[in-house]
Parts: sequence; structure tokens; C-alpha cells
Amino acid sequence: MDLGTVRCPVCDNGLETVEHSLILCTLALDIWNRVFDWWKFGPHSNLSINESFLGDGYSFSFEIGRKLWQATEWVTGYLIWKNRNITTFSKAKPNSVMVFKEIQLKSFEWISTRIEGFEIDWDTWISNPRAFDSNAIASRSPNPE
Ligand SMILES: [Zn+2]
Repeated sequence: MDLGTVRCPVCDNGLETVEHSLILCTLALDIWNRVFDWWKFGPHSNLSINESFLGDGYSFSFEIGRKLWQATEWVTGYLIWKNRNITTFSKAKPNSVMVFKEIQLKSFEWISTRIEGFEIDWDTWISNPRAFDSNAIASRSPNPE
């Protein structure tokens, strides 16, 4: 048995657990930090990232805000996992800036197609996603046809 295989293939540090892969790994933390900065949550730590991802770490004024953040978290977790697998099989190191941009794009696409009646514009999504967690937005969405 090759003991080297239990070490994380991305950072070569720590044991390869789900928590390490999705949250504690240097790659995962770098990506989560970018996502949390994008959402302007203020100071955050490994613990707050963990709590948010596994529970309800943040509260929103409106249901739509919670839904958008949840979608962002799912897409982030999925893309961290996907890029980690690419590393495992090809030895190519993922670029966290590229992964972050992919998260912004994929979450936008996911929300555009899955949240019915909700109009999301790219510029606001990129500059301040929490702007959607507002009274003006919440009162007109979701807006049944
Ligand atoms: Zn790692």
C-alpha cells in the first residue's frame, strides 16, 4: 500500500478527508476566501466557512438572498471538487482565480435557469450579489408568469 495516496494531492499536506478537500485545503480556502470577499461577508475564518457550508452560517433579509447564497455555495463546492479531481488525475494544479471566475459564471447560469421568474443581471451579480437581498427585488420576485 502506498501511504502517499492518503495525502492531499493538491497541497500535499494533511490527510485527504472530505472536510480537507472541500474546506481546509489551501486550494479550497483560497477559493472560499474569494467567494466570501465577493459576497462581502466581512472577516471570515475556516470555521465560519465550515459553518456556512455545512449549516446556516449567514442570515439574509429575504428568501431570495438565502437561495442565491445557497446556489453559490453548491456551485463552489462542486467546482472545488471537480478541480481537485482534475489535479488528482492529471497533476495539473488548478488556478484559484480561474476557478473563482468559473464559480461566478456557473452560479449565474444555474440561478438564471433554476429560479423561476427571477431576473438576474450579470453586472450586479459580479459586483454585489447581496444587492438582490433587498426589499425592491424580493417584492417583485419570484414573479409567476
Ligand atoms: Zn489539500
